[in-house]
Amino acid sequence: MTKPRVALIVGNGFSMSFGHFSGLAKDWNTQEPLSWPIPCPSQNHSFLESLPRLKSIHEKHIDEPDFDVFAKTIDKKLCESYEPDPFVVALEARHYLTIAFSHYANEQIAKLEQCKNWPWYNWIKFHKENVMCAFSLNYDLLLESVFDELSVQYFSLQVNHHGNGIPLVKPHGSVNFEIHPNSISYTPTYPLTNFVDLNNTPIIRLESDNLIYPRYQPLCIVPNESNKYSKYQWVKPANDWFNSEIENCTHCIFIGISYFECDRPELDAILDSIPANAVIIVANPHPPDEFMEKLNGRPVMIWDSYDGPVDSAGDLFPLKSDDGNSLTKCFCTSGLSYRYCCGAKLYNKT
Ligand SMILES: [Zn+2]
Repeated sequence: MTKPRVALIVGNGFSMSFGHFSGLAKDWNTQEPLSWPIPCPSQNHSFLESLPRLKSIHEKHIDEPDFDVFAKTIDKKLCESYEPDPFVVALEARHYLTIAFSHYANEQIAKLEQCKNWPWYNWIKFHKENVMCAFSLNYDLLLESVFDELSVQYFSLQVNHHGNGIPLVKPHGSVNFEIHPNSISYTPTYPLTNFVDLNNTPIIRLESDNLIYPRYQPLCIVPNESNKYSKYQWVKPANDWFNSEIENCTHCIFIGISYFECDRPELDAILDSIPANAVIIVANPHPPDEFMEKLNGRPVMIWDSYDGPVDSAGDLFPLKSDDGNSLTKCFCTSGLSYRYCCGAKLYNKT
């Protein structure tokens, strides 16, 4: 018997599950970050007041969902009609998202203390020796905070971090990433007076008590934007390292992944690296149809509870027995464990 080797692929649904469980979602709707009360880090007013181009686009499209507003900030033609330097609009969006999600990350960290019974927390705790690599499309630090609480070591290639543990790839950026201070010399302030964006430099890790300040260069891909960082020195080698781990995984869990068009090249590359006999778990109350089609012919399980990796009785879905070894495969050659296949009725208490 062998122990399970698990890859975690994390999207916004992971944070939404925590928001739902902890009550954080009431005041912090991640679909509407433009309505969060974010103060400017360098002035005494709302942050949007310091980002006039983003504010103006938001006001022109006030009835549209925030994610559509962010999509407009990367629409070069549209922005050119408002602004001589369209790239500055996207840069303001990056600064807004970085500071807004820094506040949100701090709220999550504070709530996690009181929410150690969140099913994903318990699930990762039970499988912490089995998690071999992780990939997150989120700017926030929820996965990192869970790992920190459980003493799971991880590394995202920040040059000031320890370099130990499993690869944690954050290809769309993260609120605790900042360009290395030796990369550029200027004093950042809001409103922006220097327009610094998209430089491929080494990155450092910021501690969670030092996230709220004018950033030298925000590291954050705008929603709906294709990944401009994919060849960067903190993304490409991290992806290569992650891929070398995923080639040996027995289970790959896609948690709250929406499979948006712009994310597909990265997610498809992951799917191509997963061994054919590895079990794919789609943890999502609404599994995307096109993603499910991509999984045809593979052993697949769906965990669709809003609470996370639990059955209708609230019990966790384990991937191993008490002795730490993988569950027995089903005799029907589905590739799934007997417990989650032909034996499911024996385990289903409801
Ligand atoms: Zn079976």
